Amino acid sequence: MSGDPVAIARNLLRCPSVTPEEGGALTYLEGVLGNAGFEVHRMIFAEPGTAPVENFFARIGTGSPHFVFAGHADVVPPGDSAQWTHPPFAGDIAGDALYGRGAVDMKGAIACAVAASIARLQENPGGPNGSLSFLITGDEEGVAVNGSIKLLRWAEEHGEKFDHCLLGEPTNPKSVGDMIKIGRRGSLNARLVVTGTQGHVAYPDLADNPLRGLITIMQALLSEPLDRGSAHFDPSNLEFTTVDVGNETVNLIPAEARARFNVRYNDCHSAPALRKLIETRAQKAAKDRIRWRIAWDASNADVFLTAPGPFVDLVSGAIVDVTGRKPSLSTAGGTSDARFIKDYCPVVEFGLVNTTMHAVDERVAIADLATLTAIYRRILDRYFS
Ligand SMILES: [Zn+2]
Repeated sequence: MSGDPVAIARNLLRCPSVTPEEGGALTYLEGVLGNAGFEVHRMIFAEPGTAPVENFFARIGTGSPHFVFAGHADVVPPGDSAQWTHPPFAGDIAGDALYGRGAVDMKGAIACAVAASIARLQENPGGPNGSLSFLITGDEEGVAVNGSIKLLRWAEEHGEKFDHCLLGEPTNPKSVGDMIKIGRRGSLNARLVVTGTQGHVAYPDLADNPLRGLITIMQALLSEPLDRGSAHFDPSNLEFTTVDVGNETVNLIPAEARARFNVRYNDCHSAPALRKLIETRAQKAAKDRIRWRIAWDASNADVFLTAPGPFVDLVSGAIVDVTGRKPSLSTAGGTSDARFIKDYCPVVEFGLVNTTMHAVDERVAIADLATLTAIYRRILDRYFS
């Protein structure tokens, strides 16, 4: 049984677990956590049209409270390996850093959680004063269909009830202890379509140019803020990502024009209310003149907030204990699997420094692995005290 986060991280980095490949990462974790007394379950989830993916659940203890570390053992592809100073799946240490795809996103954090758990169990051989689990998916960086959604459902069907979850995504902008994520904005994608009447540019009175209507509605949607932000969220934002007509002909008024947009929204809105608000604004701008419709993509990224309270204070306090600094509580950035976990128990995110995630030469400072392990250990000590 080794509680050394650097050794565990190196072993994980040597497993080429590019989504949807398991790459040996979960087999390795099964060995380490199994040796430490965890009961390990591995399951493959599949669905037509997607690659089957391996997932992992391990638990020690039978009582409550039940604390779960969540994470993903899959990684994004390394891109051109020749661009890397050190091979992406070698686990090389150079200077004060450990290199490899997944070093910060997020095998490094999994290694710290495993190391902290083993160390606590070694010093408390009676087991946790409650239950401690690991919920590890192999489908976070891909389409996320055969990952956390199904893993959480599997756990529920097997009687697992979680009280609190810590997700080890890289949350810190500069150094370990900067930032906890206590929520995430929701995300909606949509297509705005305006229909006109095709015709000759020299005879516009015989045609109806949909570009005029498209610009009118786009202008309306961009000119008025969706809200002014809330206690824990920045203002929601609507961003157009493309405008498409596809017209190659110089003297032709096209029949249809389309634009795509994404909305990142805060807890001032629910998804249905937000869709209605945007459609109402479009209708107001369109009046009876413009023929338009908005087609909304299905979304599984709703806004959520884990309100500040005892659990957030516990995590924050552990960070203060180890680093002497109080982390900021943030809801910025993209979505994560916390959007699925929040339906089962309160979840906060805290992990390594995010500057090299998904980049060439992804790496973690050796000192950061020690710091994060100490913080995770402190969280466990406070939680199970
Ligand atoms: Zn990640």
